[in-house]
Amino acid sequence: HKRIQKRINAGDPFFSLEFFPPKTTQGVVNFFNRVERLREGGPMFVDVTWHMGSDPANLNKETSSSSIAAGCLDFCRVDTMLHITCAQYTKEQTMKNLEQCKEMGIRNLLALRGDLPQQDENPIVYKYRALDMIRWTVEQFGDYFTIAASGYPMGHPEAPSYAADLQYLKSKVDAGAQFIITQLFFEEAVFEKFVRDCREIGITVPIIPGIMPIGGYENIRRIAELSKLTIPDWLLNALEPIKQNDEAVRNYGIHLATQLCRNLLNKKTAPSVHIYTMNRESACREILQNLGLWQQTSIRALPWVPHGGHHPIR
Ligand code: FAD
Repeated sequence: HKRIQKRINAGDPFFSLEFFPPKTTQGVVNFFNRVERLREGGPMFVDVTWHMGSDPANLNKETSSSSIAAGCLDFCRVDTMLHITCAQYTKEQTMKNLEQCKEMGIRNLLALRGDLPQQDENPIVYKYRALDMIRWTVEQFGDYFTIAASGYPMGHPEAPSYAADLQYLKSKVDAGAQFIITQLFFEEAVFEKFVRDCREIGITVPIIPGIMPIGGYENIRRIAELSKLTIPDWLLNALEPIKQNDEAVRNYGIHLATQLCRNLLNKKTAPSVHIYTMNRESACREILQNLGLWQQTSIRALPWVPHGGHHPIR
């Protein structure tokens, strides 16, 4: 059950794939079929975001984060990490959520604060941080879960400073986070500096870069705005002449992501790459094939069949 941690520490390059839960029940079958096909490439793990809009802890809802993570584990038989947030819950509710993860067979958690709701959206905000949840998890469950934490190569936008944010990250690691997955970034040098700065203050755990292949011009602008990231001028300039051509932007995105991953892996700045798939399949597969990380297995996955249908791996 400590497979992820052991494999990360073993030092062979690998990849992991992040998905968000499908929005509709009709999307669920497609979703698992996509995960099945991507599983053929040999990801070390897949992870599922904790999506507040999905009523994430509700196992009676097919599209909730928890149900989708349970499906990845049970139907797709792939090591699965569930993201879990704590800012919008009481401590008691978070403990229940963690207990449920254990009952579901989830062994890997990305412990997050989560984004705070707009003031007028939800007046009850508990404002616990990821650090609180990591401490509670270790207190209650010992080493049952492998815990990951998020890191921000350019500092978290709400942090008093970049240096303070690094110290908070160190506190999360000291409290029990066993590896770090980063926020997306656009330039190799940014990640390199972040790793150097982390090492300097004594963060020794693996730091895995979060890579987002650019899927579209408006899309990347929106994501950058939401995450309060600045897109560098060279990238905006490169996108400007092709911004109306979705195919060209997609191909450029694949090229950039491949370059970035290749450089980080070749220089051993990163032990592996974590792809924010945005539930897109072909771009993700192309990047991994370009990198030589895609390990096509000889057994092809059969389509996933819902509700007790015959499935080759159950
Ligand atoms: P924390 O580590 O708790 O930090 C939050 C802020 O508090 C930071 O500014 C930090 O500097 C500051 N801070 C920490 N400790 C202290 C202290 N002692 N005193 C003062 N300030 C302090 N969101 C979702 O809702 N669902 C997801 O599935 C999801 N997945 C993500 C995956 C990754 C890899 C990343 C990078 C982010 C993800 N997010 C997700 C977004 C995340 O929830 C937000 O970025 C959120 O604003 C911060 O969460 P955190 O756990 O990183 O924060």
